[in-house]
Amino acid sequence: MRKCIDLESQPGFQNIYAPQMQQAIDRGLQGHSGDPKNIDWGYDLPKPQTEPIIRPGDIPRVEPKPPKPLDPNMPDPVNTTGSYWDTLFNRYAIQPVRKLINLFPNPTIQGGNKSLGSFNGFTGKGNWGRIKTPKGYGGYDIHVLYHEYGHAIDHIGGMLENDSKNPLKETSMELLDGMQKDGVKLGWIINDSAMYDYIEKNGLHFVIKGSRKMNIAKGSNKAKAESKMKPGDRFRIIEYLVTQVKKDLNKATLSKDPVKIRRAKDEVKKINAVFDADTKRQKDAQDFVKELVAISKQMKKSMPDYNETGMNEHIGAFTDIIDAISGGEIYDRELAEMSQNIYNLGSHGTHPSGYYSGRQTYAGSVRNHNMDTIMEFRRAEVWAQLFLFYAHDGGKSKNTQFLEHAKKTMPETYKAFETALQRLMAIPQSVIDDSKFHRHT
Ligand SMILES: [Zn+2]
Repeated sequence: MRKCIDLESQPGFQNIYAPQMQQAIDRGLQGHSGDPKNIDWGYDLPKPQTEPIIRPGDIPRVEPKPPKPLDPNMPDPVNTTGSYWDTLFNRYAIQPVRKLINLFPNPTIQGGNKSLGSFNGFTGKGNWGRIKTPKGYGGYDIHVLYHEYGHAIDHIGGMLENDSKNPLKETSMELLDGMQKDGVKLGWIINDSAMYDYIEKNGLHFVIKGSRKMNIAKGSNKAKAESKMKPGDRFRIIEYLVTQVKKDLNKATLSKDPVKIRRAKDEVKKINAVFDADTKRQKDAQDFVKELVAISKQMKKSMPDYNETGMNEHIGAFTDIIDAISGGEIYDRELAEMSQNIYNLGSHGTHPSGYYSGRQTYAGSVRNHNMDTIMEFRRAEVWAQLFLFYAHDGGKSKNTQFLEHAKKTMPETYKAFETALQRLMAIPQSVIDDSKFHRHT
């Protein structure tokens, strides 16, 4: 489980900032429900027994060995502080990325325990951001560092090009169109507006799982409706609506009013279409994860340094992309259905419930209060995961199958990512050295 972007750095979060709230949210993000029947969330999910994967929780901390001397002929060795982090890039990052790291101002990096993994764009030396990342957990160190450094490049690139510290000006803004196109094509984004139209028109009042009351007032828009939903509730509401519109139709039939009957029939059709689209999406996503699992297995077999290079974590990065693009809705249904399945997103890696939507976290608070914040998290994480795939050289066997799979399956998103990254790489050193960009130091 990773927070990735510090909560306190988010505009949406500042609106609700209070120490108790911070504590509650953090507890929720770290959290384990304690109920063994309850699926937990995030990177620390218990993985199904059939597929033992080394999770960060299983990796003992070992003090990293002093780095081996670099090949003196290696072009563009990362040389920021002569630190452990430089070594991780010099051992496994491709040359254009090493060059970019040298070109750009560097974020502050703090190493620590295995549960770390965050980027805060509002602090750090020179205000170029601060990464907190694990140190001493083998390949997992590489995995988290490259991801978080992806956030840093996104943020610093945005600052350099826009002379702005507005998080909404990050470079990853440019991914949104591609994410929408690929997401629709892959079936990860569906049109569920009929569900929210129904809620706005009628309100929603029913008892969930025999105990909890769901009360959403008539006239509530999507944001308001979502803010009432706990993890899993989105799908529970769709299920409920399928029965409810049938009841509405029976009532209309009794009234013998042809207008009411026609409207009720129309509603049945629309809500059933949402249910069917949602079900198809769940299957499409599982089929996609099936391919990812197959790729992982091939890599595990063929790569002598599969764990050592952190490539064993790439599948979780990919399922997190699906989680982001689907707005957490696929994962939400997994939580509602509580079925343990190796092809679930939650079996590999997602962000916590409520991270990619305006719905509640497990702690019962709402992280995102508007669409801008929601989309910011979605594209920032997709950017960071793509950067991870892009930056990694694939170890001894130069295995970059996940990168190739991302290019093939998400061509629009990838094209936007690569175009933006290449533009950042071409920023002249003189522009970066220009004093106006160092006004924060
Ligand atoms: Zn992240």
